Amino acid sequence: MYGYQNSIRSCRKLEKACKTNLEMMWLIHDQKPHYKTIANFRKNNATAFKSVFRYFVAVLKDWKLIDGNTVAIDSFKIRAQNSLKNNFNERKIKRHLNYIDNKIEEYEKALDIEDNVEIKKKIDYIQSRKTKYEQITEQLKKSGDGQLSTTDPEAKAVVFQRNSVKVGYNIQAASDGKHKLLIAADTGDVNDTKALARMVEKVQQNIGQPTPDNQMDVLADKGYHSGREIKACESLNVNTYISPKASSSSKTNPAYAMEAFEYNEQEDTYTCPAKQKMYTNGRWYNKKLDKSGRKSYQVKHYKTKACKNCTIRNECTKNKNGRFIERTEYAQYTKENNDRVNQNPGYYRERQQIIEHQFGTIKRHWHFDYCLTRGKEKVLGETYLIFTVYNLKRIMSIFGFEEIMARLNAIKDPFLFILSHTALMHRLMPINNVKSH
Ligand code: SF4
Repeated sequence: MYGYQNSIRSCRKLEKACKTNLEMMWLIHDQKPHYKTIANFRKNNATAFKSVFRYFVAVLKDWKLIDGNTVAIDSFKIRAQNSLKNNFNERKIKRHLNYIDNKIEEYEKALDIEDNVEIKKKIDYIQSRKTKYEQITEQLKKSGDGQLSTTDPEAKAVVFQRNSVKVGYNIQAASDGKHKLLIAADTGDVNDTKALARMVEKVQQNIGQPTPDNQMDVLADKGYHSGREIKACESLNVNTYISPKASSSSKTNPAYAMEAFEYNEQEDTYTCPAKQKMYTNGRWYNKKLDKSGRKSYQVKHYKTKACKNCTIRNECTKNKNGRFIERTEYAQYTKENNDRVNQNPGYYRERQQIIEHQFGTIKRHWHFDYCLTRGKEKVLGETYLIFTVYNLKRIMSIFGFEEIMARLNAIKDPFLFILSHTALMHRLMPINNVKSH
């Protein structure tokens, strides 16, 4: 925790700090662990770091620093222990194999002219590369994921800032609105579309379910906007405030975009911009959500015969059978969410203050923009570690040093003893004073 708080994360730097840094020597009672011991400790205790974080969140809730009324969820990306060179997809492998085949052809032509040992060696080498790529192709097919990272198989190609692609993890974080303390973390998909309900579940596991007197609102940006997720959140008794996503046609032709068609719930009809009613045959059609077709959702179609003679048809649609509207099974949930956001713009804007500044501190100030471990669970372990440090620093600025020490010392618990030591270190006292503590 001391290392994560002071940007000394690598196990070799921590090993050195244990021998040269006075604060560190005092903190760990002059022990001098080998860097491998430190690395193994971090690698083997991911589950324990999670328990520590959850326990600390429970303590903070006990101290009434977390109320769970407003929770903001957002994500940040960190680089993994896997270079982009060691991340493959089908297109990349095809390119490599084409290159190798051309090279082999070139070398074989050269061999026809002259029997050269060096060229034979080159052919052997390039053949071994070909075998390697063929093996990766097999693994890729088995994974069914579309990409494969060879150093850290769980890391994925992620789009970072300014559209640069790196191999990494998308870390989900939840923060409580009362004091901006971090209350849950997760890592899963490379984007946020399917992450919301899972994160809400994690929040509720850590701080408890909402009650009739203690409602839970969740604020998230438009990356999380998905009817399926909004419905799932509703079943968890949560009110979502997710920034609405404009339909794809709203930018090109706003007068005839989806938003310009008004839905009438009683009649189950739409009214189009030409004031014509659009009807459904009542049938639900399956629509694929991902390429594999595993996940799907249902839609109803709405049409009108008036399209045939409509004077503005060319502006409204290019479809030769006239315009039709698709209404998803989640449309009502999406509408209710969008209404909540549009009616409470000030409340939705609080999202940024509640969740985004932590990422600045953790990534820019403490350099947690890459992980040192491999695999989702271990990376998440590191995340829990730095989130615990963040919460500790945050409550120190809420309570002040004396108060926090008194509170931590009042609870006879080994974990809180460690926290109090780290809190003490944060104060950076002169070494003589530190000893007297
Ligand atoms: S084309 Fe059809 S849906 Fe579009 S405005 Fe005309 S009548 Fe309405």
